[in-house]
Amino acid sequence: MTLVLPYPELGDAFAADRMPPDVIHLDAAAAGRASRSVLRAMSDHLDSEARLGGYIAQAEAADLIEQGRSAAAELLGFPPTDIQFTESATGALAGLLTRMHVPRGSTVLVAPGEYGPNLGLFRMFGLVVDQLPVADEAGHLDVSAVATLIETTRPAMVHLCLHPSHRGVVLDVAPIASICRAFGVPLVVDAAQGIAHLPTNFDADAVYATSRKWLCGPRGVGLIAVRQGLLPDGMPALESHEANIAGRVGLAVALSEHLSLGPEKVRERLGAIGKLTRHRLDGISGWSVIEQTNEPSAVTTLQPPAGWSDSDLFGFRESLAAGSAAERRIVTTYAGAERAPLQAKSAVLRISPHLDVRASDLDCLAEALRQT
Ligand SMILES: *Cc1c(COP(=O)(O)O)cnc(C)c1O
Repeated sequence: MTLVLPYPELGDAFAADRMPPDVIHLDAAAAGRASRSVLRAMSDHLDSEARLGGYIAQAEAADLIEQGRSAAAELLGFPPTDIQFTESATGALAGLLTRMHVPRGSTVLVAPGEYGPNLGLFRMFGLVVDQLPVADEAGHLDVSAVATLIETTRPAMVHLCLHPSHRGVVLDVAPIASICRAFGVPLVVDAAQGIAHLPTNFDADAVYATSRKWLCGPRGVGLIAVRQGLLPDGMPALESHEANIAGRVGLAVALSEHLSLGPEKVRERLGAIGKLTRHRLDGISGWSVIEQTNEPSAVTTLQPPAGWSDSDLFGFRESLAAGSAAERRIVTTYAGAERAPLQAKSAVLRISPHLDVRASDLDCLAEALRQT
C-alpha cells in the first residue's frame, strides 16, 4: 500500500530552513529540530545582551516577544493578556497548582494516560487522583460516562493530557470542556505533546505546553494560558521576571513559523505521517504498533517482540542512536512505563517524525527492526 503525504511543500520548507541532520531524527515528541531562523534570532539576542546589557536588549526584543504571546494566544484560543511564559510545561503546572489553592484531599480526575511527573505533582499538592472512564483500550474517553461522573462527584479539577507521552492517542477535549463548564469544574489541559501538532483551541480554564517538542522552539521555555477568574485575586504572575530571554525570542520565532506554515496543514500532514509510519513498521519481526492506524497523531509506539525486557529495549534504542543497529544513526525515544504509570505496563519504542520525514528514513528503521 502506498500512502501519499499531503502538502509536500511543508516538508520542503521545514527542511530548507534547517541544518541537514547528522542523524535520522524521528524524535520530535522529545525535542524537534530548531530552524535556522530560530537559532539566528536567539544568537542575535545573545549578541545584543553582550553589546547593550541584558535589560536594554530585552526592551528591544519586547515587540518580538509580544508577537510570540499573540501567536500563542491564537493557537490556544485565549486573549494575549492570558498567556504567560514559563520555563517548562512541568513548571507551568507546578506554578498553576501553587496559585490555585485546591484544598489538600480534593479530587482531580485524569485520563489513564496521565503523565507520570504530573501525577507526582498532584501527590505533592495532596490531591487524590481518580480516573476518568474510557471507551476503549487505547484510552479514549467515554464522554457520557465522564459527564455522569463529573455531575455526581463534582471533583475539584479535571486535568487532561491532550496527547500523552507514552503513546499516540489524541483525547477529544472539546466535549469534556463543555461538561466541565456546565458543572463549574475547572479544566486544565497539558498540551505539551499537542501544541503545533493537534488542535489546541478549546474552552479550558488553563492550557500549558512546552516550546521544544512539535513547535521546534528552544529548550527550557514553556507557556501557559490561564482564563481570567481561575486563580484567586492577587496571585503573583506565573511568568518569571528573570528568565532566559533568548529562549523566549526563539519561542516567538518558532510560533510565528508554525502559523506561517499553517496549523491546519501541519496537522493534516503530521496525521498522515503517523498513519504512514504505522503501516510501514507494524508487524516487522514481532514488533507491533500500539496505536489504532487512523489515530490523528504523528506518534507511533512499538511494542518489542515477545521475550524482550525493558532493558533490552533500552539497549536497542541506544544502539539505534549510536549507529550500530542500522546504516545510519536513528534517534527515537525509549518510553518507560513511568511516563504513564496508570496505563503503561512496559516500555515502548516511540517514533515521532516531523514534517520532513522521508520514506527512506522509515525504510532504514524498518531494516533495523527486521534484523532484531
Ligand atoms: C514532555 C511532556 C511534559 C513535560 O514538558 P516539560 O517542558 O519537559 O516540563 C508534560 N506532559 C507531557 C504529556 C509531555 O509529553
